[in-house]
Order: sequence, then structure tokens, then C-alpha cells
Amino acid sequence: MSQPAAGEGLLKRVLIGNRGEIAIRIAKAASALGMESVGVYASVDSLGLHTRFTTEAVEIGTHGPAGDPVRAYLDSGELIRAAKLGGCDCVHPGYGFLSENATFAAFCEAEGLVFVGPPPAVLTLFGDKVRARAFARAAGIPVVPGSTEPVASAEEALAVARELGYPVMLKASAGGGGRGMRAVAAAGEMAESFERCRSEAQTAFGDGTLFLERVIPRPRHIEVQILADAYGNVIHLFDRDCSVQQRNQKVVEVAPAPGLDAALRERILADATKLARAATFVNAGTVEFLVSPETGEHFFIECNPRLQVEHTVTEQVTGIDIVEAQFRIASGASLASIGFGDQHAVGNPRGFAVQARVVARGAGIIRAYKEPGGPGVRVDACGYLGYAPPQQFDPLLAKVIGSSNSSASFVSAVDRTLRALDEFHIEGLETNLPALRAILSDPRFRAGDARTTLLVEQPEILSASSSNGTGPLPLLEQQAGVAGGGAGPHPNRPSKLSPSLPPALEVSAGMRGVTCPLDGLVVQIAATEGDVVREGDTILVVSAMKMETVVIAPCSGAIAAVQRLGIGDAVSAGQVVALIAPAKGAVEPRTRARTADVEQTWAPVLDEIKTLQTIAHARLAPGSDDPGVVRQRSRGKLTCRERIALLLDDGSFREIGSAAGFASYDDEGRVADFTPANHVGGWGAIDGRTAVVCADDFTSRGGHADGA
Ligand code: ADP
Ligand code: ADP
Ligand code: MG
Repeated sequence: MSQPAAGEGLLKRVLIGNRGEIAIRIAKAASALGMESVGVYASVDSLGLHTRFTTEAVEIGTHGPAGDPVRAYLDSGELIRAAKLGGCDCVHPGYGFLSENATFAAFCEAEGLVFVGPPPAVLTLFGDKVRARAFARAAGIPVVPGSTEPVASAEEALAVARELGYPVMLKASAGGGGRGMRAVAAAGEMAESFERCRSEAQTAFGDGTLFLERVIPRPRHIEVQILADAYGNVIHLFDRDCSVQQRNQKVVEVAPAPGLDAALRERILADATKLARAATFVNAGTVEFLVSPETGEHFFIECNPRLQVEHTVTEQVTGIDIVEAQFRIASGASLASIGFGDQHAVGNPRGFAVQARVVARGAGIIRAYKEPGGPGVRVDACGYLGYAPPQQFDPLLAKVIGSSNSSASFVSAVDRTLRALDEFHIEGLETNLPALRAILSDPRFRAGDARTTLLVEQPEILSASSSNGTGPLPLLEQQAGVAGGGAGPHPNRPSKLSPSLPPALEVSAGMRGVTCPLDGLVVQIAATEGDVVREGDTILVVSAMKMETVVIAPCSGAIAAVQRLGIGDAVSAGQVVALIAPAKGAVEPRTRARTADVEQTWAPVLDEIKTLQTIAHARLAPGSDDPGVVRQRSRGKLTCRERIALLLDDGSFREIGSAAGFASYDDEGRVADFTPANHVGGWGAIDGRTAVVCADDFTSRGGHADGA
């Protein structure tokens, strides 16, 4: 094939099949190239800023069933219709949504629209992690030790895990965005983890295929940005470190990876380009690796055949506009024609760039908004005064990117980013800005040695509270108050944001409420009215922060009512989702103990202990995402209750002292939340003989006490 010159036959009008900051980013690149753009929006997104950056914007999702705006952006037929009606000659999918969907890419091509991304065959290969691992291995690239085939059942997974050694990682073959992945610390957790993981994968990707990898302990996540043209030429734009993660999702990214051994970096870069060449990759993509700094090993984990959220940091250190390059390559330009005839043409990265992902935590209307700026600061965002981010989408609001000054040191890039975060003023909507500042102040991160486990090992970083009280923020906050902005509930919240919820359940006398422990979306309703349940049985499965949490029955009894919820409905922490008429012998409900005469007895105290115990058990249940439990598991250790369960005869444990820990109370003196101490005591039986047991996260001790 002849290799055309730059600009020759450049595409003219693009349909942007995405929303939020990335749709804006793509619209700006198109405009810089003299192209026009057509944006799309679901009805809840009609005020999305991206709709104002495109030449034209059209509503989608008006034909299908109302209620799930995400589906509008996943409807390939509708996007293609919009592209053709809008007179587009190409489609840029952004990230997420249809960006890695081979069928969509093929559909575009069949309709005469250029898909700005790799060809369908490449998307198919890398969309299946099991296939991608096999392909990388065959190309001579090290992969994480793990299964070579999908595992069809928990039993099969147990067999593979026995070979690999615990802890292992259960992963969805079609997974992405940190979803459908779970570390399994011991065989006893496999059955539950397998079920949860498969369900997450089925819901999120429509494919429940799972496989296993060995857990690489405390790795760094290092990835390589690739550009390839349609004529077999491949270059890399160096590496990024994306080790700061929460629930396997990137939070802070850096280019290039600081302090990486030079020879190891060369091996990683070479393997990434080798993989792209072997796969006849075209357009932009990223090859991801886990790196063990202690052993100097690197392992391929996946290839993302699309633009990534963190492409910005690479742009800042190379000066290359990756989205423009994507358009040119899709137009048929060769790498040589756009100035990258070989790797040398890219030059070396200049200094460092750091990106912090600012996300909304919960709902709200932005009532004050000022982005940071100045030399070396870039902000890619979709926020503005008056904006209420719809709850159904990824909560990414802004990416703040700071580049190093002339000293070119990593720390100077970190400090620039930190100062930019200190200047970022957002009110009316809670964000992770305090946590981002704490991460950028953390000594391990600043030393360039953040590991993917950082936020599990140091969970206090995530609960960091507000700003340092200096700089411009206090003034901005004060004046936002003067101008009538500031935090607090908004009187005119649009009704779209608070769709009419099903009527809340009241806990009447004699009933026990099943309370949802966290904000999330319903993925499964396991109980219906009239069911007889046992304490600990699953009532509801809730997905939050891309993990599933089981809401369990606090006592045995009959289900008297279940809140009228559907799959995908939002539930919030503290919401009573079901009522149980407790079985005889189950602990009396708290409401009973509120009458005057019982108040004189121990009943209220016992009730409170029962409440604390229920919360403690939920936190320590299999699949719990309580940070302490996750940390314990990630160290390959059992929780104290798991140790006790292993030690004692089944069902014999009678716990005392559950009240040890930190409880918070609401205005009426009821327990609002409880963090149990990692220390448990009680008695039970070992081989039928009574035993006194006491366990904490480090030890478990049992003493036979027959007759005591
Ligand atoms: P990256 O490395 O670019 O974060 P991942 O493979 O981790 O890539 O995840 C894919 C990206 O797509 C995520 O960053 C996520 O924010 C984004 N994404 C996934 N689902 C959605 C969605 N519904 N709306 C917007 N963005 C999404
Ligand atoms: P996704 O497609 O969701 O991006 P990846 O396979 O890229 O999934 O993994 C995302 C993150 O999950 C990694 O960066 C790492 O932090 C963690 N992870 C994945 N596999 C392993 C593993 N085998 N050992 C340790 N951590 C892992
Ligand atoms: Mg990944």
C-alpha cells in the first residue's frame, strides 16, 4: 500500500459517541484539525457541557425504553443513524461505552463510516483477556501466571488456584474499568467470590466468562502508549505509571514512570511494540503491565485498544496530540507523514506530568466552580456552575494535569498538580479533592514508589478532609457564601435527578428492618414477601464503587415486606429495603425495647449489642469491601471471625464483647454506624468440648474450659 501524505483526504465531520470530558476533548481536537463534530446526548445529559462544544448535538435514547440513559450511549444502531443523518464521515468512540466493541466498529465500516480506532479483529482479540494472554505468551511476552482457559465453575477455579497458590485474582475475560475482578485469599472464599464476580461480569459486560491469575504482590502498574498506522509501522510514546488505584481503578497517573530501572523500561517498551506489531495494531492503544520492582519482572495484563483517560500525561511530556494523531491515522496517514517515521522522531519525554482524576462523590448541583490554571497546568473537565452530574454515569468530573517546571523533576510535577488542586474550587457537590491532595502529599507517592496497594495499605489517605486553609480557597469559599452559593441542599433540584423513589419502609413494632449499608444500585433482589429466611441470608445485592455487596438478613424470620425496587434502582446507606417478622427466639426489635418498663431492663443494651453485632458481621461477611477487611485479605490473612470459624465446631460460637469498636449514633440515640474492633471474644466448642476463644487479626487463641 502506498503511504499518503499528511492532511491528504482528512476526515471532515465526526460523530462523537461519548459524553463528559472526553467528548469535549475529542470535539476540541476535531476543531483544531478543521473538522466539524456531531455530539450525542441522552435526555438526562441535555445540559452536559459536551453538547455545547460540538458543531451540532442530537438527542439519543428517545426511542428505546426510558430509565437507563447509559443504554442510549451503547445503542450502536442509534449512533450510526445519528452519524448518517448528521452527515458524518467517521465516528470517534472515546473510552468506555462502545469504544472496544468490535461489532460496532464493523457496523461503522459497513455503513461507510470510518471508525477512529483499531480494526474489528484487533478489538476482538484484546476484548477477550484470555485470548490476549495467550497471544502475548505466544509472542514471547511474559504474562501473569494463571489459567490458559476460562474457568467454568468455582470447582474448576479451586483446582487452578491450588496449582497457582493463593492469593489469586478472579477476573472477567471481558472485564474493564476495574470491574469484574476479585482477589481470593483462600479456598474458603472461592464459591462466594466466583458467584459475585461472574454476576458482576455478566451485568457489566454481558459475558460472565472468568479466568484466574496469581496475585502479584504490591506491584506497580506501568503501561505503554502505542501509535500505529495502517502500513505496519508502530511507535511508542513511552510509559505511564498508574499505580495509585482505588478498587483497581486508576486515580492518579504519571508519565513517564518515575525511578524505573532503565533496562526494565527498555524491556517493557520493546514488549509493548512487539505485541502491537504481532497484532497488526492500528491507531492508538495502550499495553498494560504489572511490574514487580523487587524482582525486576514485568507481566502483561491487558491491551486497551482505544484512547485512555490518562492519555493526557503522555501528551504533556511528548508534546504530541494523541487525539489528532488518531484522526490522521484513521484518515489513512502514515506515521512518517505525521512526523514519526521512526522511534527517534518522538524524542525523549520532557520532564514529568501528573494527572489527578477529580470525581464527584454523590449527587449535587455545582454551586461554585473555578478551575485552576497557570503555567504547566492543564484541566480537561466537564464541570460548570449550575451543573448537576447525572448519577447514572462514571463520576469523572475533571482531570487536573500538572507538568514539571524546568527542573524536570518528578516532585516538581507533583507539587504543581498539588497547587492546582489547592486552587480548584467546587461547592455544592462533594468530590475526592481532599483525598487527591493527600495522595500527592504521601511520601511513598512522592518518592515515585507508589504501589497498586497504596490506598488499601494506607486507607486513611482516602478519608482526608478538606484543604489546608491557605491560598485562594478560603476567599473563594467565603465569597461563594456571600453570593448565595456554597454547600447545602439545593432548593430547586431538578426532578430528573431525584426520580420518584418507591415508598420507604417503616419499621413497625415487632418487625426487624433490613438496612442497606451503603449507597449503590440494585443488581439482584433475592427475597420476596413471604419467604422464610435465616440470619445472614441474602436479601439484596447492591453494586457500589464497581463492587457487589450482599445485604443480609439481620435475623431469622419471615419476610413481611420488600421495598418495591427494580434492578438498577438506586439505594442509599441506611435505607430499609425489607422487613422481617423475626422467628421465635430471634432477638426482639429495638422498637419494642423503647417502652418505659423495658427501658429499665437490660433489653435496650442487648438490642444495641445485637445491632452492633449485625453491622460487624456484615462488614466481615464474605465479599465485604470494608477497607480493613480488604487490607487483611490482600495480605493473604483471614479476618478474626474467619479464624474462629475454622477453629470451632460449626455454629457453636457464642460471641460476647461485640460492642468493642467505634459506634456513631443518630439524633435519637440509635446506632447509625459501627466499626468493630479487630478483636473478638466468646465461647464455643472444639470437638464437642466447650472452649473460650479470643482472636484478633494477628492471633487466635483457644483454651478448653470444660465445666468452666
Ligand atoms: P483507563 O485506563 O482509561 O481508565 P479502564 O480500562 O480502566 O481504562 O476503564 C475504562 C474507562 O472507561 C474508565 O476509566 C471509565 O472511567 C470509563 N468508563 C467506563 N464506563 C463508563 C461510563 N458508563 N461512562 C463514562 N465513562 C466510562
Ligand atoms: P481492567 O481491564 O479492569 O483495567 P486490569 O487487568 O488492567 O483490569 O487490572 C486492573 C488493575 O487490577 C491492575 O492495575 C492491578 O492494580 C490490579 N490487578 C489486576 N490483575 C492483578 C494481578 N494478577 N495481581 C495483582 N493485581 C492485579
Ligand atoms: Mg486495565
